[in-house]
Amino acid sequence: MTDLYHPSIYDADGHVDSFWAATAGPEVDGWSPLSGDQRCDVAVIGGGYTGMSAALHLARDYGVDVRILEAGPPGWGASGRNGGFVGPSSSKLGMSAMIARFGEDETRRYYRNGLAAIDLVRELGETEAIDYEPCGDGELGVAHKASQMNGMADWAATWRDILGVDVEVWSREALAERGYTGPHAHGGLFTHAGFALHPMKYARGLARACIRHGVGFHGGSEVTSWQREGGEHRLITKGGSLRARQVVVATNGFTRDRLHPGFAGTMLPALSNIIVTRPLRTDELEAHGWRTPCPVWDTRNLLFYFRLLPDNRFLLGARAATRNTPASTERYRRWLIRQLHTMWPAWRDAEIDYFWRGFVCLAADRVPHIGQLGDDPTVWHGMAYHGGGVAWATYSGQALARMIAGNEPAERWLSAVVRQPLAKFPMAALRLWYLRGAYVLYGLKDRYG
Ligand SMILES: Cc1cc2nc3c(=O)[nH]c(=O)nc-3n(C[C@H](O)[C@H](O)[C@H](O)COP(=O)(O)OP(=O)(O)OC[C@H]3O[C@@H](n4cnc5c(N)ncnc54)[C@H](O)[C@@H]3O)c2cc1C
Repeated sequence: MTDLYHPSIYDADGHVDSFWAATAGPEVDGWSPLSGDQRCDVAVIGGGYTGMSAALHLARDYGVDVRILEAGPPGWGASGRNGGFVGPSSSKLGMSAMIARFGEDETRRYYRNGLAAIDLVRELGETEAIDYEPCGDGELGVAHKASQMNGMADWAATWRDILGVDVEVWSREALAERGYTGPHAHGGLFTHAGFALHPMKYARGLARACIRHGVGFHGGSEVTSWQREGGEHRLITKGGSLRARQVVVATNGFTRDRLHPGFAGTMLPALSNIIVTRPLRTDELEAHGWRTPCPVWDTRNLLFYFRLLPDNRFLLGARAATRNTPASTERYRRWLIRQLHTMWPAWRDAEIDYFWRGFVCLAADRVPHIGQLGDDPTVWHGMAYHGGGVAWATYSGQALARMIAGNEPAERWLSAVVRQPLAKFPMAALRLWYLRGAYVLYGLKDRYG
């Protein structure tokens, strides 16, 4: 089975050249590639937030013998290179569509799970002494066009009702006082939930916590083959093999179709891209009245996400690229810089110090999936966070541990929204074409809608 993208994106020898990798401090000690034939109770494939949270909770809270097999170093995937937004949602389904499909109670439960996910990140920060550089006390959504302010009040009321948290509508003037000004800033919606963090510091903190609580962490250990031997799974890496009665698949956007037939064609990886400027001077920040430490997204379908970093660098992220050859990567980098200049013209002279990209992960039904395979309940998974996995992947790992070792029926506490069986995309070989089609449509809506 061939991959959808250029192979360079799977090269896990070292971290991508991101601002986070450059500023996270020392690499984690105490992990080594798998060697020889080993055995454990639960094997976790993927050492990002999902896999590490599952392993940590299994080992720490239930005393399970667990090991992680990760292709790169800890946090190599999206977990070590994201925007650091810690928010309550991980679905691409609008709220009314979610209510229509799952009902109001399960939708409410989904968002309550999302709020619990935010709390869990904070709690792990405290209990495991993770210095993840928290910033801000909420999330700001900005209307990129004046027309996007229509209906904001209704939107805020629904969110208040469903989320049970305070949501404020900010006029253009209020946004200028508390947020920023710019040609694409027409007002906004401030949600008193969520914050921002340093994703690689958080990932490394989770890895250290795993190792401290007895998890065997095997970086540099890509699972290249998966066999079934009697009642056990046997996962083969280039250095050895690992037998386990249960397996957690925590590979999200980096899931290869060839890993296991149960996941082939179920996930659509999508590129998300980030640029980071040099530290901005006070006069440059003043030119756009930038005042908020909170993470910000805008109302485009192909949304931009951005935040001011603690050392006054500016981070801007976006999707909309579907190729990752060297030439198209450079074209996209230049496109993203042009967007920065259009939205914040006063920052045209700020050099761009970093550009990197990675995979977010979409599912055909546009909701995350946490559970086990229908035809093999010893294979568990947590994936498809639709670009909203910092809090949700952490929560998903904890939920998997509760389901695997805690014998706690998930129907009682986990929303049905995320408990649906995995479904393959129809004609899965065309997945990237679906994405291209959606991007063209969204681009037109954002421009002319
Ligand atoms: C540029 C970017 C910006 C983002 N911004 C945000 C944001 O601001 N807020 C937010 O909530 N979310 C954001 N996301 C999404 C978020 O980072 C992810 O949802 C989350 O990190 C998923 O965690 P994970 O552990 O499930 O997957 P990942 O962190 O991607 O980890 C999967 C791991 O599996 C490993 N793997 C794959 N196959 C194998 C194999 N066969 N054997 C061994 N290991 C394997 C990979 O090496 C990888 O490390 C962003 C993502 C990107 C790429």
